[in-house]
Amino acid sequence: MEERPRILIVEDEPAIADTLLYALKTEGFDPEWCATGRAGVAALAAKPFALVVLDVGLPDGSGFDVCKEIRLRSAVPVIFLTARNTELDRVLGLELGGDDYLVKPFSPRELTARVKAVLRRTGGGTAGTDFHVIRENQNPVAAEFVVDDERCVIRYRDTALGLTRYEFRLLRALAAKPGRVYSRDQLMAAAWEDPGASLDRTVDAHIKTLRAKLRVVAPDADPIQTHRGLGYSLRGSS
Ligand code: CA
Repeated sequence: MEERPRILIVEDEPAIADTLLYALKTEGFDPEWCATGRAGVAALAAKPFALVVLDVGLPDGSGFDVCKEIRLRSAVPVIFLTARNTELDRVLGLELGGDDYLVKPFSPRELTARVKAVLRRTGGGTAGTDFHVIRENQNPVAAEFVVDDERCVIRYRDTALGLTRYEFRLLRALAAKPGRVYSRDQLMAAAWEDPGASLDRTVDAHIKTLRAKLRVVAPDADPIQTHRGLGYSLRGSS
């Protein structure tokens, strides 16, 4: 039998967790439930998951902090569950490394649809499945970055990265011409539908989360270079 993708649910309300467990099982996933952030981080350290559904309001802290902790060691896709329908939550959530979000109340069908979409986008959850093992450079001969436009996936050193939409577009622009220095405005124009509505620091924030995800694959490589007063470039393959 084909292996069912393991999904971790971190949610303190048992009624919501039950609904999610049932919906995900019905859709062919193998879900597990933790009621606290700490239990969630421990579960991720114990075995690989394809995706994490993470409540923002947890009894032992915020889901954003839990996500930051997860991101130190893993690029596993994260979908935030939030009770506050504000744009700020969304931006904050995505800048902190989440891949999508749902505002409560939501239907189980909505959740499973998002889970599937995020897994499709991030390459079926292959990214970040090794929570402990920081991968070394496995294949120095292969191109460092391989962009798969159809699936919206970028592989870095043979590892599919779990990227948000904007991280994907930024890295795609940089990877198109390694060595070329892009200004923040140019990156904004390449990655955002409405560049005028964003700020320079939005680019910086996404570069930061992007670097964290690249570090998970190769801790010392740091392929994105900062050019003071100018912008960013991607180091050419060495
Ligand atoms: Ca909660």
